[in-house]
Amino acid sequence: GLGLAWAVEWLRLSAGLMEEHRTELIELDRPIGDSDHGENMDRGFRAVLQKLQDAPPASPGAALKLAAMTLMSTVGGAAGPLYGTAYLRAATSIGDAAELDAAALAAALAAARDGIVARGKAESGDKTMVDAWTPAVEAAEAAAAGGDTTAVLMAAAEAAEAGAVATDPLVARKGRASYLGERSAGHRDPGAASSALLLRAAATAAA
Ligand code: ADP
Ligand code: MG
Ligand code: MG
Repeated sequence: GLGLAWAVEWLRLSAGLMEEHRTELIELDRPIGDSDHGENMDRGFRAVLQKLQDAPPASPGAALKLAAMTLMSTVGGAAGPLYGTAYLRAATSIGDAAELDAAALAAALAAARDGIVARGKAESGDKTMVDAWTPAVEAAEAAAAGGDTTAVLMAAAEAAEAGAVATDPLVARKGRASYLGERSAGHRDPGAASSALLLRAAATAAA
């Protein structure tokens, strides 16, 4: 199963990807938002890295709870509370388990997605991060039957990437992009793109 080392590596790789893709996420947020998503995510995950150093967590659940609290207070905007809720629900799903098997991983991803939906009230097709998370959860649940944790996360990452790309033609019905109505079509949702990167980090950390 995947334990503390995986969870910490997931957060470290996430911070690396947020830094690396900062400009790209800003550019995605420009036409349909306020050009801050890359800055918000990079700031938030830098704070997570700092917190990992200052107060090293003792379990995978504690690592995700640390991320939740830090993202909630540093990312800001719409994405901060949404990601904060996602990591908090995932942490609760894991509880104080030392290791996650394939089924526990799929359940934690489902809990994260459910948290985003509970907080933001977006449905599939509303052109939000939910459009990356829902296919990711479905792919993870399908892969979990095989029992291979890395396969679960690889399937989730791939489905999230496809889900993010599939937001391009959609008209936004939630968040700042929805103010543009039909003019939001033809652009990728920045939160779906960052979600795909975070799930890619989870898979890479397990590989
Ligand atoms: P803000 O729009 O406040 O500047 P960000 O730019 O950091 O916040 O994040 C924008 C992203 O948040 C969007 O691309 C979208 O994926 C996500 N988002 C916004 N509102 C919702 C919602 N109600 N439900 C799910 N995701 C949402
Ligand atoms: Mg924004
Ligand atoms: Mg903003």
